[in-house]
Amino acid sequence: MSLLQVDDLVVRYGAATALDGVTLAVEAAELVALIGPNGAGKSTLVNTLSGIVRPASGTVHIGGQLAHVPEGREMFADLTVDDNLRLGGWRNGRRGRDTGHVYEVFPELAPLRRQRAGRLSGGQQQMVAVGRALMARPDLLAVDELSLGLAPMVVASLVRHLRELNRERGLAVLLIEQNARMALELCTRAYVLEAGRVVAEGPAAQLAADSRVAAAYLGGP
Ligand code: ATP
Repeated sequence: MSLLQVDDLVVRYGAATALDGVTLAVEAAELVALIGPNGAGKSTLVNTLSGIVRPASGTVHIGGQLAHVPEGREMFADLTVDDNLRLGGWRNGRRGRDTGHVYEVFPELAPLRRQRAGRLSGGQQQMVAVGRALMARPDLLAVDELSLGLAPMVVASLVRHLRELNRERGLAVLLIEQNARMALELCTRAYVLEAGRVVAEGPAAQLAADSRVAAAYLGGP
């Protein structure tokens, strides 16, 4: 059984169908991208995985701990970095208060631990958002729009961190991205979602070389 297995998922908002029979899987320690245009249903999918949205039909099986890094980061601006991180560990009791492992992953955050999160840069806030998710000690991280609004150098640094987490801790990642180029570089496998349906899937390198995917998402053939 896969770490994440989604079968024939249908989600509706009133009369509008946001997901129209989506099937996808993520294996343990796998890096998988979900790309697609605005409004394709990417956020709906990840919100369904984390139970925020209830499907009309279909199944979601998660064979481990899932943590979600939401679009827009959703920091508590007035709380410190350390307190924001602890919010991600509340399910884990005393162990969930220990933020040390997050500062090992993101040493750049250690000197900022007593700063209010609202004072950080966008890239630093995204590190806190990923760190907060790591506090749940996940097997699978679902990251919604990692790169949104961030400078390329900042995105590159976040990508390095995710790669390291994958390599050293076996963390699986489902990366939901409008930045298809970055997503296909980081991940080994990808799905393309359009209007609530998976229209292409396969090895990331193969999708990047597909002329239709390249034309639609990579700015050229
Ligand atoms: P974006 O990157 O812009 O967030 P997306 O691929 O994540 O796009 P979704 O946000 O999942 O797409 O939206 C899928 C469809 O569902 C869109 O047509 C959107 O307008 C609609 N939708 C999303 N959330 C709601 C909601 N709460 N109520 C009604 N319609 C919604």
